[in-house]
Amino acid sequence: MKKCREITELIERGSEERLPLRHRIEVKVHLMMCKLCRNFAKDTAFLDRLLKKINNFQQTQLTPSEKKQIKRKVNRSATD
Ligand SMILES: [Zn+2]
Repeated sequence: MKKCREITELIERGSEERLPLRHRIEVKVHLMMCKLCRNFAKDTAFLDRLLKKINNFQQTQLTPSEKKQIKRKVNRSATD
C-alpha cells in the first residue's frame, strides 16, 4: 500500500509522462479510497489544462521545470 506522498508524486509524473500500467493502477486504487489525493489529482489535471492553454496562447513556451514550479506552488498553497 503506497503512501499519499508517493501517490501524489506519481500523479505529478503522470501529468508529464505515461506511467507504467502498474503505477496507474496503484494510483487509481488509491484515489478510490483517498479524498485528499483525489483532490490533488483533480487540481493537477486542471493545472495541466491551464498550462497547456497558456502555452498555446503565448509565443514562448514554458519549460518543463517552469511548469513544475508553478504546479508545486499552486499545489502547496492548496494544501496549506
Ligand atoms: Zn492519498
